[in-house]
Amino acid sequence: MDKKVIIFSAPSGAGKSTIVHHLLEKYSFLEFSISATSRAPRGKEENGKDYYFFTTEEFENKIKADHFVEYEEVYAGSYYGTLKSEVERIWAKGNIIVFDIDVKGGVNLKKLYGENAVAVFIQPPSVEELRNRLIGRGTDSAEAIERRVAKAEEELTYASKFDIVLINDKLDEAFLTAEKIVEEFKLR
Ligand code: 5GP
Repeated sequence: MDKKVIIFSAPSGAGKSTIVHHLLEKYSFLEFSISATSRAPRGKEENGKDYYFFTTEEFENKIKADHFVEYEEVYAGSYYGTLKSEVERIWAKGNIIVFDIDVKGGVNLKKLYGENAVAVFIQPPSVEELRNRLIGRGTDSAEAIERRVAKAEEELTYASKFDIVLINDKLDEAFLTAEKIVEEFKLR
């Protein structure tokens, strides 16, 4: 059994988590890679389910001890990374790993796993639409939204480094395209 991985990256607001959740519900052979982070838990997030939550010091010690497959400081002062132990845990069960990871991490994992990986970039239909979605979500201030939009514009330049660009215009169509990607990759 090959050790396979599916990587999803996107600018925030592109609908990445919705698509990833849909796939995880539908296919029992997929398993979500729980990342480590040094940011604080939000809302109902649970340690060991949404993330492995560490202090900055704990996270930096794990970097030094070479426990990460990859890590990035996605936002200033907040580390996010994939633990080697997490990847091994999922492969040991024979499952295909699903990563929800920032664009730089996505590119790094694709380089690392090569043919055993399919890297999918989820793209919002336009920057304007992205801004509207962030406003609609209602979780960010106007200033935070503009910061995210600026970051998204930079992140959009990474699309060409991915195997597949999935434009998330209509969600039901995006679900079907994502399902096709998973099913073809499983048989490969
Ligand atoms: P949030 O704080 O909203 O949960 O996540 C912020 C960003 O960090 C998202 O774009 C998410 O995809 C990314 N991210 C989550 N886990 C990892 C990881 O293990 N490595 C990297 N490089 N990025 C991650």
